[in-house]
Amino acid sequence: LSSGSRIAWRERDVKRTLPKRSRNSHKGTHGRGLVIGGSSTMPGSIAMTLKAALRSGAGLITGGTINEVFSSIASHCVEATYLPLLGKAGAMTTQPVDVSMYNAIAIGMGMGRNEETAAFTRQLVKDVTKPILIDADGLHHIKDDLASISQRKQPTILTPHPGEMAMLTGISVREILLHPFEVSKQFAYEHNVYLVLKGPHTIITDPNGNQLVNTTGNQGLAKGGSGDVLSGVLLAMIMQEQSMIEALANGCFIHGKSADLLISSHRSTEDLLATDVIDGLASVFRTL
Ligand code: AMP
Ligand code: MG
Repeated sequence: LSSGSRIAWRERDVKRTLPKRSRNSHKGTHGRGLVIGGSSTMPGSIAMTLKAALRSGAGLITGGTINEVFSSIASHCVEATYLPLLGKAGAMTTQPVDVSMYNAIAIGMGMGRNEETAAFTRQLVKDVTKPILIDADGLHHIKDDLASISQRKQPTILTPHPGEMAMLTGISVREILLHPFEVSKQFAYEHNVYLVLKGPHTIITDPNGNQLVNTTGNQGLAKGGSGDVLSGVLLAMIMQEQSMIEALANGCFIHGKSADLLISSHRSTEDLLATDVIDGLASVFRTL
């Protein structure tokens, strides 16, 4: 195992590495992203991911989901476009879909654990030749197929919380929390992935074992939807010109900083909602 570096990622690092939006840029400059997820019982997740990606600088964002989901979320995220993926009985299609026009993909949020949807996810991960971020139910779908993840030529980014990390590795949550750096490094190296192990101190690890530790965020984020918002911010960062590990660390910093600024002004750690974190992105980007 390479002995990678381990660095706390601070505001000055973000200021130094975050790409500036050029006066002459157009929407294509900032990437065309696809977010795949959503199910009839969890339509909100993908809406938050879409919105967070757009609020973090993405040029064009498309939601790939089933009809009942986009009919219920389209009015909440009017800036996005939609790609119908309906298969049978509320599941995602098992037919191949052409995703070659997208620069990066995020998959899994609110997706559900249906077997057809799982098969769709596994096939897509094999076929896609662009960076792909996998979160939430998407992590469950690929758990038994980590071998095809390792073989991907483009970056694969996995964003588990400790419970999902336990599911992926078979290591107990207790053991993961005792040795988060070692467990992350071993997993990222073994499976050739970028790993974002979420928690109060999120650890970002690249396939070579280099590690960055996020320095923002608070317990107000311990609420449903926080992870969906993070995936959207990360997707936007992945599509801007920066090194992958720095893009991921910048995304984690910005997400946590939004929550920090909100609770230092008009929100509390109790009432903070994931959608507030999306609204708070404005104050973060204005200071970076
Ligand atoms: P998820 O569990 O997928 O909804 O993701 C939760 C998100 O909120 C991740 O970005 C975590 O890092 C963040 N988060 C959750 N709890 C805390 C906490 N106590 N302090 C700081 N960040 C947190
Ligand atoms: Mg989650």
